[in-house]
Amino acid sequence: MAIRNLRFLGDDILLKPCKRIDAVTDRIRILAEDMIETMRFSKGVGLAAPQVGILKRMMVVEVEEGNPIVFINPEITQREGEQLGLEGCLSIPGKTGMVRRPQKIHVKAYDLDMKEFELDVEDLFARAVCHECDHLDGKLYVDLIEGELMDSEADEEVAE
Ligand SMILES: [Zn+2]
Repeated sequence: MAIRNLRFLGDDILLKPCKRIDAVTDRIRILAEDMIETMRFSKGVGLAAPQVGILKRMMVVEVEEGNPIVFINPEITQREGEQLGLEGCLSIPGKTGMVRRPQKIHVKAYDLDMKEFELDVEDLFARAVCHECDHLDGKLYVDLIEGELMDSEADEEVAE
């Protein structure tokens, strides 16, 4: 496994839509492992492939420590309620802002065996999945914030 270089705000690759993955190759498996390692090294709860310069629809989320989940071609099929909370992004370090997200979502995706799975998640997990899915469409949370983009305190930062 290796830690990959992160792409930061201002890099055009973060604004481009990603392509669907048709088959899990060795390169995709290695990318998934590297993304998990990079997310953990950077102390994030999620990471999307374009954040390491790859325009493919894959993302990793680890809200429950020790249980990282790889999502391939994810789709949010249901949204329920709303939550307003601070959000951050590993591609926009040191910043945070208030973003409104659904409280609960239903998400479908494929795993590394190209087996489809479905999850119902809420709270921070739902926020992280929404944030990473946006990355796959070339969207950043800074365009969704309510109020000002603020400097984050290290201890309150939830970066994705
Ligand atoms: Zn992000």
